[in-house]
Amino acid sequence: MMYWRDGCEFVNHPISGNLAVDGGAPVIARQFAVRNTMGPEEEQAAVEVIRSGVLSRFQGSAGDDFLGGPQVRAFEEEWADYFGVRYAISVNSWTSGLISIVGALGVEPGDEVLVTPWTMSASATAILQWNAIPVFVDIDRASFCLDPSLLEQHITPRTRAIMSVDIFGQSASMEAINTIAAKHNLSVISDCAQAPGAWRNGRRAGTLGTIGGYSLNYHKHVHTGEGGMIVTDDPDLALRAQLIRNHGEAVVDAMGVTAINNIVGFNFRLGEIEAAIGRCQLRRLESQTSRRTELAEMINEGLGDLMGLQTPQVTPGNDHVYYMYGLQVDPEALGVTRDWLYRALTAEGVQGLARQYTNIHRLPMYTQRTAFGSKGFPWTLQKSDAPASYGLGACPVAEDLQERTYLGLELCSFAYTDDDITDTVNAFRKVWLHIGATN
Ligand SMILES: *Cc1c(COP(=O)(O)O)cnc(C)c1O
Repeated sequence: MMYWRDGCEFVNHPISGNLAVDGGAPVIARQFAVRNTMGPEEEQAAVEVIRSGVLSRFQGSAGDDFLGGPQVRAFEEEWADYFGVRYAISVNSWTSGLISIVGALGVEPGDEVLVTPWTMSASATAILQWNAIPVFVDIDRASFCLDPSLLEQHITPRTRAIMSVDIFGQSASMEAINTIAAKHNLSVISDCAQAPGAWRNGRRAGTLGTIGGYSLNYHKHVHTGEGGMIVTDDPDLALRAQLIRNHGEAVVDAMGVTAINNIVGFNFRLGEIEAAIGRCQLRRLESQTSRRTELAEMINEGLGDLMGLQTPQVTPGNDHVYYMYGLQVDPEALGVTRDWLYRALTAEGVQGLARQYTNIHRLPMYTQRTAFGSKGFPWTLQKSDAPASYGLGACPVAEDLQERTYLGLELCSFAYTDDDITDTVNAFRKVWLHIGATN
C-alpha cells in the first residue's frame, strides 16, 4: 500500500509502525497554524475609524443616524452589490440576524417554523425568541441539509416558515423548498452562515429564500470578530429588520410605520470598526472560498479510495465552500466504531476532527420543554403535536450521523498548508491500513 503523495516526499514522516493510539509515533507531530484572514488593509481600516473617534453612529431614534454611520452603510451597500440583492442589513451577530428575520416575518406566538436539527443551536432559538415553535425535519444524508421530501408531512395550519440551513458550505435544495413553501404560503429563511460565496444554479447561496443571510463570526469564511448580514429583496422585510435591529418601537411613530406587530426592538447594531474590517474581508471572500475548495479537492483525492469512508457529496447545481469537510464512516464495513476512528486519527495528530455535529432536537430545552420560565412556555401556546419532533427517532438520519457515522474536519479552523493536508490524508491512510480497509 502506497501512502498518498502530492508532490511531497514522506521520508520524514513515520508512516509505518504501530498506530499512535497503540503507542506508535504519530504521523503529525506539529500544531497547524491558526487561520488568520486579517491583513494590513483591515488594520488600516480599523485605525482610521479609531482616529475618527466615531466608533458607532447609530441612534435609536428616527433620523439620519437610525441606519448607522458611514462604514456600516458602505459595508451594507457593498455586500448587497456583491450578493446581488436589494438590501443588506448588518447586525452584531448572525444570531441577532436570525432573530430579526423571524420577527420581521411577523411570526406569531405559537406558530411553527420548520427547521433542520443539523445546525447551530441559534437557528432554532431565533424561532423560540418570538415564542414560536421549532419543528425539526430530518436531513438528507448526502448533503446534510433539510430533506425537502419530508417537509410536507410536518406542515400544519400553524406553520409559517421554513428555515433552511446551507450547512457545511453548500446550499440546500432551495428550488424544492421554495416550491413547497409557495404551495403552502410559507416564507423561506435561508441560514447561510456557513456558505457565503457558494453558488447554486448561478445564484448566490443565502439569497434564494424570502430572506436570509450570513454570519461574520470569527470562525466563518470572512469575519468581523462578531457580526452578521441579512439579505433580502423585500423592502418591507428590510425595514422591519432594521426596526428590530435598532429599538424600532421607539421610532415607528416618527417614521409613519403602522404595522408594529413584532417591532419589539433590540440593540443588534454593528460597530463602525467591525464594518470597516468587514469591507476589507468581503474583498477576501473569493480567495478564502477558492482556497477552501482547493483543500477539499486535495483531501477528496487522498481519501477517495478508502473503504467505508464517504467523502463530501456536492449535490447537483451546487458548488461547495467547505466550512466543514463532512465525512461519513461505515462502522460495519470497517469493523471499528466511529469513536474508535476518532481516537485513532486524533492520536495520529489529525487536527480539527469532529466526531459529532449536533442534534438540536435532542437538547434538554426541547426534550423537557423548558425554555422561557419553567412551565412549558411557549409550547403551552398550542396543542399541536409539534414537540413530537423532539423525540428520539424523530430525525433518524441526523441521529445516526450523530451517534455512529459522522466525522468532520473543521477546515474553518486552520491555515492548512499543502503539507498539512498531505499529512492529514496520510494519517487517515495509516489508520485505514491498520484496520485492513484499503484496496
Ligand atoms: C455560526 C452560525 C450561526 C450563528 O452565527 P453567529 O454570528 O455566531 O451568531 C447560525 N447558524 C449557523 C448555521 C452557523 O454556522
